[in-house]
Amino acid sequence: MTKPLVDVSRDFPILNRTINGHRLVWLDSAATSQKPTAVLKAVERYYEESNANVLRSVHTLASEATEEFNAARAKVAGFIGANRPEEVIFTRGTTEGLNLVARGFGDQVVHGGDEIVLSPMEHHSNLIPWQQLARRQGATLRYIQLAPDGTISLEALEQAITPKTRIVALSRISNVLGTINPIREAADLVHRHGGYLIVDGAQSVPHEPTRVEELGADFLAFSGHKMCAPTGIGALWGKHALLDQMEPVIFGGEMISYVDREEATWAEIPAKFEGGTPNIAGAIGLGAAVDYLNQVGMEAIFEHSRSLGEKAFQVLQGIDGVSVYGPASPHAGAVAFNIDGIHPHDVAQVFDAQGVAIRAGHHCAQPLMQWLGVGSTARASFYLYNGDEDIERLKEAILETKRYFR
Ligand code: PLP
Repeated sequence: MTKPLVDVSRDFPILNRTINGHRLVWLDSAATSQKPTAVLKAVERYYEESNANVLRSVHTLASEATEEFNAARAKVAGFIGANRPEEVIFTRGTTEGLNLVARGFGDQVVHGGDEIVLSPMEHHSNLIPWQQLARRQGATLRYIQLAPDGTISLEALEQAITPKTRIVALSRISNVLGTINPIREAADLVHRHGGYLIVDGAQSVPHEPTRVEELGADFLAFSGHKMCAPTGIGALWGKHALLDQMEPVIFGGEMISYVDREEATWAEIPAKFEGGTPNIAGAIGLGAAVDYLNQVGMEAIFEHSRSLGEKAFQVLQGIDGVSVYGPASPHAGAVAFNIDGIHPHDVAQVFDAQGVAIRAGHHCAQPLMQWLGVGSTARASFYLYNGDEDIERLKEAILETKRYFR
């Protein structure tokens, strides 16, 4: 029996809600996670006691705010095993981080005739910035061939990555298939050819222990809101030397060293990439989320997400008329499925009537839907506050949906 890893009713007040007469079951954490009281309190405390702009004024509140903001960066750096806090750039989330790399770094290293390697399972956030880069530079996009269960084999990586590859951009964990991609192997291959690996960590950083060096990535982007932090904050990690070389993309206050009427020079990293007033409360909230996740333990969270993902996969596969996508194992966090003859939006609606929140649609992964040969799917995703009881509710919701549309 798998129980939630935390005291849900104490830590996540929102999960005490009743929706349409039923206890809310949140199976949409791949879209966004719920926020624990510790995070809500950290944000509230900052606004109640220390609200000020950071890195500017010398008064007490500004010093406190700056200290907390810097401490949050150090916590995030520790959480992913970065060597130095300044390797962590605060962003709005994964999308912004990936766009930043594609513009600021991609334009420097990708030229006409070069190749950018992606997988067909990428979220649009890790696809469109590279499409745009390829267009700007006259480069070619190549796709890694997926195995029939949606996984990526070493042979497929070897076929896709060539001496012309300048950038490989891959998600560590798919937001649809729950697959865990061979990032280390991709890193070794692309580095052997002198290219770079950019990792979309939107689904992995919330769910598995992350050590950037072991991963082998050159850049890693992720979002706070999928790991118990507020929306509007995320981070881009990059190797120090690459961030030093990378061009800023957002120009304005706080990202400069010297400005005159004609030109400007840039501040050191991370400020170079953080023009304008940052999301201070969000960063502090992300720091609190990191503390919370560390307390629970990332090893335990990974085992939990994986165990629930695999159990849900088995349960769904055992229901007549239900198709489940991706591998049976390892299957982290998210499970995509369809019920024969019922549109996923209708599925999600009947689920909602039973208090079960899932996502329906293309999950910002249209090329993957094309590969699967479907227009859309339903998706249930799990996190530390879910347990076996929620899988039972998922199963009941499917059976009820089938009865409803019979
Ligand atoms: N990449 C993956 C794999 C995702 O699941 C998501 C969000 O669903 C994103 C990127 C984009 O994240 P955000 O919308 O927080 O920028």
